[in-house]
Amino acid sequence: MESKFYIYNTLTRKKEEFKPLHAPHVGLYVCGPTVYGDGHLGHARPAITFDVLYRYLTHLGYKVRYVRNITDVGHLEHDADEGEDKIAKKARLEKLEPMEVVQHYTLRYHKAMEKLNVLPPSIEPHASGHIIEQIAFVQKILDAGYAYVSEGSVYFDVEKYNRDHHYGKLSGRNIDELLETTRELDGQTEKRRSIDFALWKKAAPEHIMHWPSPWSEGFPGWHMECSAMGTKYLGEEFDIHGGGMDLMFPHHECEIAQSVAALGHETVHYWMHNNMITINGQKMGKSLGNFITLDEFFTGSHPLLTQAFSPMTIRFFILQAHYRSTVDFSNEALQASEKGLARLLEAYERLQKIVPAAQSTIDVKGLRDRCEEAMCDDLNTPIVISHLFDACKAINTVADGKGSISAVDLEELKAVFSLFVEDVLGIKTEADDNKNDAYKKAVDLLLDLRLQAKQNKDWATSDKIRNELTALGFSIKDTKDGFEWSL
Ligand code: ZN
Repeated sequence: MESKFYIYNTLTRKKEEFKPLHAPHVGLYVCGPTVYGDGHLGHARPAITFDVLYRYLTHLGYKVRYVRNITDVGHLEHDADEGEDKIAKKARLEKLEPMEVVQHYTLRYHKAMEKLNVLPPSIEPHASGHIIEQIAFVQKILDAGYAYVSEGSVYFDVEKYNRDHHYGKLSGRNIDELLETTRELDGQTEKRRSIDFALWKKAAPEHIMHWPSPWSEGFPGWHMECSAMGTKYLGEEFDIHGGGMDLMFPHHECEIAQSVAALGHETVHYWMHNNMITINGQKMGKSLGNFITLDEFFTGSHPLLTQAFSPMTIRFFILQAHYRSTVDFSNEALQASEKGLARLLEAYERLQKIVPAAQSTIDVKGLRDRCEEAMCDDLNTPIVISHLFDACKAINTVADGKGSISAVDLEELKAVFSLFVEDVLGIKTEADDNKNDAYKKAVDLLLDLRLQAKQNKDWATSDKIRNELTALGFSIKDTKDGFEWSL
């Protein structure tokens, strides 16, 4: 690990050199999706951002345990504490077992992630599978005196916690102001203050997902799952916790408070947050009609889209912006990315066919270091891509016969492209439907020629075509109308 790796820590608001607690082991926890509704673009950004982090840490030689959870209980309709559980509601309306709903969306999410070439995490725990751990965590907070039981539910006492610690340190919210404006609720609800958040909720009769606990038959509050599962799999202190910026408050703020209250110290060393995605300059939202699912992008079946965009185009587009900048999706921007990606992959393909010469007329030195430097500067993928584009120009010069490259330089260039394009950025050549089509037509053409040869009793040609295609792995069947083939 020669180069120092810097990441921006949202908690300290500065770039810090990454120093893992137990090198070469690294613990990485990322808030995964809430599995309801369709996988949409908002899901793609954190998945791709932290996939690149995971890939790069692995490249640096670390052994990463990457935990990305699935939120399948406790995510309520209105906010963290109010309304019906979203999974339970869908299950009730569609007369399904809640776990059927969860399974359906988990599989869909996995499919989309696979298309986006997002590597699966080391562990993908479900909130509903960790109720015992969550109950134990809530009990610790109660024992420490930072929570209270009210009507069978358990709430975190934010005011008391804030007297001893600092609630709001991650998001930078001024909690004194919040406390002043959120007056005592004098018995209107179970909570003492509206800012208090649920650690455990007593289930209302219509709630179909509930578990026994010391306080009531109920379910955990949303923020509890990440505290419980993060510490279970990565320890009471671990390296990196990531997620979308929208989770900073209240979700991650609450996680910090829960950890400090229960364990007496913070759990996470580096907090990383990816910025949000807008569509044509607007926030994404169901009510705005710009809530485009990943499948709709892949097929082009949304009225806002002028064409389909392949998963790799989406991935490349997201990586062309730094993860802490906003990304605005538009047809024009995506078309530009599609072209850029094609240029990169074309040059990569040409690179494989270049024959080395005695000397190089292009400069290959330094490319690897420049790419490493950009990655080590808080995952600056747009800069890596621009360095690769510079190299593409050089590759094309040689491939066009206007320059040459030595065998040593050629090997280095191939290695750098393979490392950064494929391993680190996770870009791969997609099966191209047009190419597929052309290949099918070419096989049909050959078999048409064979048919003609047979009709002309030119057995030599007909056998040659059949034998050579068979040797390539094609199976050819003569039918009464002509032929059928498969590979
Ligand atoms: Zn979380």
